[in-house]
Amino acid sequence: MADNSADNSMDNATADDELFVNQDEVEGTASGIWSRLLAGNRRFAEGKPVHPNRSAEAREALIDTHAPDAAVLSCSDSRVSPDIIFDSGLGELFTVRTAGHIVDDAVLASLEYAVSSLGVRLLVVLGHQNCGAIKQGIKEYENLLHEMTADAEDSLMAADSIADLDERIAEAESIMLRTVGFSIWQAHESELESNEDFERVHIARTIEELVDRSDVIRQALAEDRLMLVGARYQLDSGKVEVLSF
Ligand SMILES: [Zn+2]
Repeated sequence: MADNSADNSMDNATADDELFVNQDEVEGTASGIWSRLLAGNRRFAEGKPVHPNRSAEAREALIDTHAPDAAVLSCSDSRVSPDIIFDSGLGELFTVRTAGHIVDDAVLASLEYAVSSLGVRLLVVLGHQNCGAIKQGIKEYENLLHEMTADAEDSLMAADSIADLDERIAEAESIMLRTVGFSIWQAHESELESNEDFERVHIARTIEELVDRSDVIRQALAEDRLMLVGARYQLDSGKVEVLSF
């Protein structure tokens, strides 16, 4: 009997839902939660969302408490709402959103609350295609570069005058320049030049910053209580690109 049912489930599995054959086994684990979100994103991208947990009953069941199992730090962009693109409902996602998913003390405190008090198992940093905050970061980065090289008489002198560019970015008054601008500087250092690359590097750097700045997140990762993933939402396809670093 057991063999038959295993065969049946294999027969019915397509390439797309292979990941979810063992859903029962992984449910509740961080990778199971991530699989659930990616399955929701696939439904959304295919134009077949099921809008789970959005009924009056779902709302009423959550009056006294909620137990979201995932937190998402995403860009505030109006096209990138995590609840919509992961086809999730009430009580599922704890979301923190800032332009360009930039991190400050309030973001850290909110995510630490999600990890230590709500016990989320998964933390997703979600950037996206055509991010306006990245474009703003590029503008501020280029303005600073222009300012620093304006008086240079040749390329050697220009190179000399930007020797401490990273320090100037790190000390900038603008948080957009300190965060997104620094990611653009780092991408340039790795000879990456496209906006898509800047978006990916900035997601990676945001993850690094969360780990560097938060004892709570670092400890949860060390104790295997938390999984931290990076993803980039594609406006054109509706799909989330999973990044590996
Ligand atoms: Zn954005």
